[in-house]
Amino acid sequence: MGQIRILSDQVANQIAAGEVVDRPASVVKELLENSLDAGAARIRVEVEGGGRRLIRVSDDGHGMNRDDALLAFERHATSKLRTADDLLSIATLGFRGEALPSIASVARVTLETCCADGETPGAGTHLEVAGGKIHRVDDAALPRGTTIAVSDLFFNTPARRKFLRAESTELAHVTALVTHYALAHPEKHFELVSASHTIVSAPPVARTSERIYQVFGKETLGQLLPIAAEAPLERAGLPEPPPWRKSPDDLARQPGTLRLTGFYSKPELQKLNRNSIYIFVNKRLIRDRLLLHAITEAYRNVIPPTSSPVVLLFLEMPPEEVDVNVHPAKTEVRFRQQSLVHDFVRDSLRTALVKARPAAGFLAALHSQPTASPSLMPPAASPLPGAPNGASSLGAVPPDSDPAALAGLDTDTEPFHLTERVPAPVPGNLPFDARSFTDGQFREFPSQILSEAAQALLQPAAAPGAGECSPALNNGAAYSTGAAAAAALVEAEQAAASLNSLGSLKPLGQLRESFILAAGDDGLWIIDQHVAHERVLFEKILRDRQVERVQRQRLLMPLLVELKPEQMVVFARIAEELESNGFDVEPFGPQTLAVKSAPVGLEGPALERTLAEVIEQSAENSGEPMRNEELSRLRTRIAASIACHSAIKVNTALDLNRIEWLLLELGKTSHPTSCPHGRPIALLYSWKEIQRAFHRI
Ligand code: ADP
Ligand code: MG
Repeated sequence: MGQIRILSDQVANQIAAGEVVDRPASVVKELLENSLDAGAARIRVEVEGGGRRLIRVSDDGHGMNRDDALLAFERHATSKLRTADDLLSIATLGFRGEALPSIASVARVTLETCCADGETPGAGTHLEVAGGKIHRVDDAALPRGTTIAVSDLFFNTPARRKFLRAESTELAHVTALVTHYALAHPEKHFELVSASHTIVSAPPVARTSERIYQVFGKETLGQLLPIAAEAPLERAGLPEPPPWRKSPDDLARQPGTLRLTGFYSKPELQKLNRNSIYIFVNKRLIRDRLLLHAITEAYRNVIPPTSSPVVLLFLEMPPEEVDVNVHPAKTEVRFRQQSLVHDFVRDSLRTALVKARPAAGFLAALHSQPTASPSLMPPAASPLPGAPNGASSLGAVPPDSDPAALAGLDTDTEPFHLTERVPAPVPGNLPFDARSFTDGQFREFPSQILSEAAQALLQPAAAPGAGECSPALNNGAAYSTGAAAAAALVEAEQAAASLNSLGSLKPLGQLRESFILAAGDDGLWIIDQHVAHERVLFEKILRDRQVERVQRQRLLMPLLVELKPEQMVVFARIAEELESNGFDVEPFGPQTLAVKSAPVGLEGPALERTLAEVIEQSAENSGEPMRNEELSRLRTRIAASIACHSAIKVNTALDLNRIEWLLLELGKTSHPTSCPHGRPIALLYSWKEIQRAFHRI
């Protein structure tokens, strides 16, 4: 007898479940996506036991009739795809028809759905499935929409159950997921409730900034800047259907547009991993190496290479430009025009950074140390509910969190990472009537009240009990108005704090011959003279190198530098580029170099240190031929090193003329925000902060 057997549907579904469902958050993801695909305006997610005991997702979408409800649990049953050609232009989040049967094969599922199509209003279907088998189907009077409850996840697969982490970990993953989808759809009402505590409550708002305010709070919004860009998509060189297969539609179709909107962080905000970068492609949350790379490139020499920014990017493109069918959990995609998309993202972000030149606030910089943020988290799920809002919202690491677990968070393989611990949110009370926030009034409130308001709006609302409406639900409209006004206020403050005024500042003098003080309309500026000059030189060196007009000076006596054999190998590899940067260096014996001329401004020990530094930093990849990107990195490394070693030092007296010159030159650079190594250059003690500190407002 032959050995090969066709697997039963139940086993096939469990195998598929292995790919699609690996933890409660992935169940939530599939159910949320189904609700969004069903056109829901309001989605409520309830979980118990971190989702291990129960996940219930209710929506007010178009629902299903009885036949469809039964079919939905069949393998490869989907309403979103008919032919293979449809795969090329998927506009829905789901399309594989795998999620429901997979989930139902490893949990107990109850489905209540009603499509109320007008013929039989109110008629709905109640369906129970467990371990892949339908146990009950009844008619039921239900409102339009769908509720799916998934309980006892992995009840029949104990091996999988063992892989589930602590309840709090699973809840954190679920929270991150709901938060992300809430960000992508500000016009929809999202709620996440865990054991009768509201963790996320986001009534509809008009703009993404208001949604960010709703879920992350004022502080986070204050550190982010909006970005919007678009570029036409050229189709040159792309495979087209042959002429005989082209429909009139194909011929009429325009190449379309690549659009980018979202938010990016000011250079002062730095994270030690990439968990705070969120990328949505056509509203689908994805994890993509190519785009992560583009973002890192945009921030190169603006933040330290070891840090990551906080970025929320929404990319929109015609569906046929992106293949979403490359991963069972649909978290990876493939772009038809990879390098075009990559460069577009990198250049748009760069341009935005250069244009905004956001000034770092003195107080913000004081507290901004790169953190190993587990992820952006809504304040309610932060380690200290009710603590000053900002510290929590950008994912301050809980003091007792396991460093090993955090270190493991930056893998690119797992799509969603979160903090190890989500303490139960503390119910909060509204200190005043939220309805008093009308647009006009709100602006009049002193900022202290504003931040209290922010706290109140963001704290989990006291939920009187399961099933009852929490205050957050009753005051939905008022809350959204508050978010709009607060977001507008934060944006106004952001617009004021730019480095564009650098050139017109009035220099006051130096502090300990190291920091420049200067007065401007917007407040008091404190500028680090060394890094300011470093930035000026860095950009000049790169410019000169680009047009091959590097200024070099002959040394009176050649400088002899001793190298180890492996350093000689590295030197040989970068010698040509060093030459182009003004270094005339010749071998002088097997382990010695003779430097005959050097870039202007570099002498003696500084010259020696620069060479040693560049050689040391270029040690990686020394065997392979240099690629373009590597060459450009080498160029910036050399420029940064020369700039650092020839810039004005701290503890150096500067007269007012020289200070004025430096400020003027700094004002002309593209990134006066930070030195090439990512340290801040100029900090603003804003007029507002000064007034506040003197209790004048
Ligand atoms: P897919 O989303 O890939 O089509 P699923 O297994 O997730 O596959 O869902 C199967 C089908 O069930 C969907 O195509 C859709 O027609 C229907 N469905 C699932 N969830 C909902 C919902 N919340 N509202 C309306 N229809 C739904
Ligand atoms: Mg689906």
